[in-house]
Amino acid sequence: MSSTEKAIIIGGGISGKLAARVLSDVYKEVIILERDSEHAGPIARKGASQGEHLHALLHAGEHGLEELFPGITEKFYDSGAVKINSTIDLAWFHHGAWKVRYDGGYSTTLQTRPHLEWHIEQYIKRIPNVILRYNQVVEDFLYNKAENRITGVQLKNGSLKADLVVDASGVSSLTSKWLHKRRTPIPEEKVEINLSYISKQFQLAENHERDWRIKMVYPNPPQEKIGGTISRVEGNRHIVTIMGYHKAVNEKEVLKDESGFIELSKKLPRLDIYQEIEYATPLTKTSFYRIPHMVWRRFDKMELPNGLLLIGDTICRIDPVFGQGMSIAILEALSLQKLLQTGARQKVSAAFHKKAAKIISPIWNMVITEDFRYSATTGKRPFGLSIQQWYAKNIFLLSSQNQEVYDAFVKVMNLVRPITTLMTPSIIKSVLSHAFSRIHK
Ligand SMILES: Cc1cc2nc3c(=O)[nH]c(=O)nc-3n(C[C@H](O)[C@H](O)[C@H](O)COP(=O)(O)OP(=O)(O)OC[C@H]3O[C@@H](n4cnc5c(N)ncnc54)[C@H](O)[C@@H]3O)c2cc1C
Repeated sequence: MSSTEKAIIIGGGISGKLAARVLSDVYKEVIILERDSEHAGPIARKGASQGEHLHALLHAGEHGLEELFPGITEKFYDSGAVKINSTIDLAWFHHGAWKVRYDGGYSTTLQTRPHLEWHIEQYIKRIPNVILRYNQVVEDFLYNKAENRITGVQLKNGSLKADLVVDASGVSSLTSKWLHKRRTPIPEEKVEINLSYISKQFQLAENHERDWRIKMVYPNPPQEKIGGTISRVEGNRHIVTIMGYHKAVNEKEVLKDESGFIELSKKLPRLDIYQEIEYATPLTKTSFYRIPHMVWRRFDKMELPNGLLLIGDTICRIDPVFGQGMSIAILEALSLQKLLQTGARQKVSAAFHKKAAKIISPIWNMVITEDFRYSATTGKRPFGLSIQQWYAKNIFLLSSQNQEVYDAFVKVMNLVRPITTLMTPSIIKSVLSHAFSRIHK
């Protein structure tokens, strides 16, 4: 095999595995280097400790995964993931109102993130030209200055050469450190949100009157900063995740003893989650994760060395409250697959970074529009912020009474329709008459 046929991927998280799947179609050998050790089953691991917290997979992500790994959705269900009707089985309290519940005909899969990732891994392990190596910490890139090319990676014990190096090492990103060391600035957007995630799993008591499989109680900003979700997952368990913006959660108090988490659930805008877990059996310790800021590194706006491609959280870490990170990675992988199929391998990285920016841009804009409802949020505000916030607020409130509006919103939220589909003449008319009626109340 000539050396022009090898790709190395740094990081065996979701993006690394997705990248391996699509690169394996065109590269003779694809090696994933993961610093964690191999785990025996679907359990959270140190290198991706966010896996202890609820991970929703949006429709776009679910469809994309099925395209990349045919049959995977059925495999999820075979091992206990929960199939729900997306709009009947979700009870969602948002901006102070419960969403309307109706049968929109779409389904969502509820499962833990380790369960989802473990299934992807089983597919990856069956691809003959992909090698997944654990306990491999990549320390540096090999760099040919004369050609301005990344030629491989430096590991603790030795080095590996490759034609393409993919950085899927997550938000801490080897590439960022490498560029920083060389004093090369990365154009980036950063939005401070100081978000805390706290999660715990429970066994709930049987209750035949429970009419939901996932319940989300979101804060009504700017007054409320704490929100929470309770979701059924595989193994007849429920995962409860509570999130607080701008240091609204006192980490020490919550972690000090078993009652800390239950006490925190009393601070949610509604007591529904507290009432479910008050007498439930805790199954895990309380986990904590902090997201000080969202960051979007604009690799599409700078010149990178040849032979280097970035994917997933390495490019953009988004506020996870809207459940988009994994779906972004999946959409990026599909986009990379299309580019590779056109055969333009020499220019693939620059073209891919531009495509990734197109995927991220509308999602980033949608998320920061919400996050800037808090005055403590800092960063670059989008153009026309207050009108966007006003329009979105009316969409959210209308979603509690108008099925057409909620249906359009569900599709946008799930990244299967562009945001412009919330601006049809009929929806604009509904928004205006709703806004007018609020003024005259
Ligand atoms: C609290 C929280 C909740 C979230 N909830 C959701 C949700 O509901 N829905 C959703 O879609 N997304 C959610 N996300 C986002 C989602 O977790 C990420 O977008 C997704 O995991 C990105 O995967 P990644 O592979 O790019 O990065 P990571 O998951 O960070 O994986 C990076 C991998 O690289 C490895 N690595 C790092 N450095 C090295 C090195 N030097 N050498 C070798 N290996 C290395 C790490 O061990 C790790 O395995 C959430 C995120 C957080 C933090």
